[in-house]
Amino acid sequence: MVGKIVQLEDYEKLVGAETVDRIREKAKRLQGLHVVNINSTYYGGGGAELLSSVSLMMNSVGIKTGWRIIQGPPDFFSITKKMHNALQGEEINLSDRKMQIFEEVIHENAIRNHLESHNMVIIHDPQPLPMINHYKKNGPWIWRCHIDLTSPNRELWDYLAPTIEKYDAVILGLKDYAQNIKTPQVFFMPAIDPFKIKNRDMREEEIKERLDHYEIPTDLPLVVQVSRFDRWKDPEGVIEAFKLARKEVDATLVLLGNVATDDPEGPEVYESLLEQREERIVILSHQDSALVNALQRSAAVVLQKSIREGFGLTVAEAMWKGTPVIGGNVGGIRYQIEDGVNGFLVSSAEEAAQRMVQLIKDKSLRDRMGQRAKATVGKRFLLTRYLEQYLDLFNSFETIYRFTGLPKEDR
Ligand code: UDP
Repeated sequence: MVGKIVQLEDYEKLVGAETVDRIREKAKRLQGLHVVNINSTYYGGGGAELLSSVSLMMNSVGIKTGWRIIQGPPDFFSITKKMHNALQGEEINLSDRKMQIFEEVIHENAIRNHLESHNMVIIHDPQPLPMINHYKKNGPWIWRCHIDLTSPNRELWDYLAPTIEKYDAVILGLKDYAQNIKTPQVFFMPAIDPFKIKNRDMREEEIKERLDHYEIPTDLPLVVQVSRFDRWKDPEGVIEAFKLARKEVDATLVLLGNVATDDPEGPEVYESLLEQREERIVILSHQDSALVNALQRSAAVVLQKSIREGFGLTVAEAMWKGTPVIGGNVGGIRYQIEDGVNGFLVSSAEEAAQRMVQLIKDKSLRDRMGQRAKATVGKRFLLTRYLEQYLDLFNSFETIYRFTGLPKEDR
């Protein structure tokens, strides 16, 4: 697959010809549509991960799809991270100064981007949300929010809602996140791209080479969490659970994390963890997709012990590799893991420790759960399903045919 951009047809062996044909058919009516996605980081979180794949897939089915990133000074991103936290339920001091910086930086971005001629604009997450205030629409505008909106801070929501209601549709990850707004809401769970370096098959030597490169010991079972350094991912809780489990089983914990460019809190979280490093607690910060893949494949157990989680792509990524995942019983994780069937859901460090011990001691349980985990992802969490949901949404806009090259009689 090296050097070749993945096409829809490549999925045929995974999802069947019927699904691929159906998607092609749905894309037919959208040929030539000009779509732009706007978010605030190229890498480091699930949103960017998804965009990098789905934007290419849209092009592969004939929709001219672009992806742009907004820019802003550190204080802008510090405010938008506070907004992210507040949308996940934290308090926020929503001062005039904060709102002014937020709105001004987006106004500047709106001047630099020219979205007047696109037929569809998809704005991701709260950072670029006010872009819509600065254009005359030339087609539907969609707000795609990747955040866990179980209990958003009311004050912030009331501030954002009038802007959200200017959009023609809102995409949220789960029905649980539905809000009381006038705009129609649809619900798309994220999905993984099985062909990218992070998820594709790896030979044993390749896995070993990556682990050796970072001096990760493989003499004991590996317990792994791969996550942005963010308090919501509960890295402290993972270490606590690991220390409890270690009283009963020998293992090595690897916490691999990164910092998204739009998340100024990351470095602080990373540094606060470093004093917990020891021989069997490896804490790494590298941007290396092949390492993510190697770790998720070679782990006896993957953890995603989040306290809030919009979806948790890392869960599907590990499950696809046949590795059982112990996940926090929150947000999107609950829709991927069926407790006791293809993984475990937990609500405390003690429970996580107990499940770790159980899985590490029982290879056949790991194998059974891992197989079911892989089957779950194959059935429900591959990118074709996500692409098809987008196509259905695009097709649902009555005016969309104005923008495509389709002959009148086919509209
Ligand atoms: N990720 C990565 N390297 C890291 C940590 C995370 O490549 O060190 C990737 C991870 O593989 C996944 C994405 O970042 O694709 C995180 O998505 P998720 O939905 O799990 O969480 P988010 O960061 O969006 O909250």
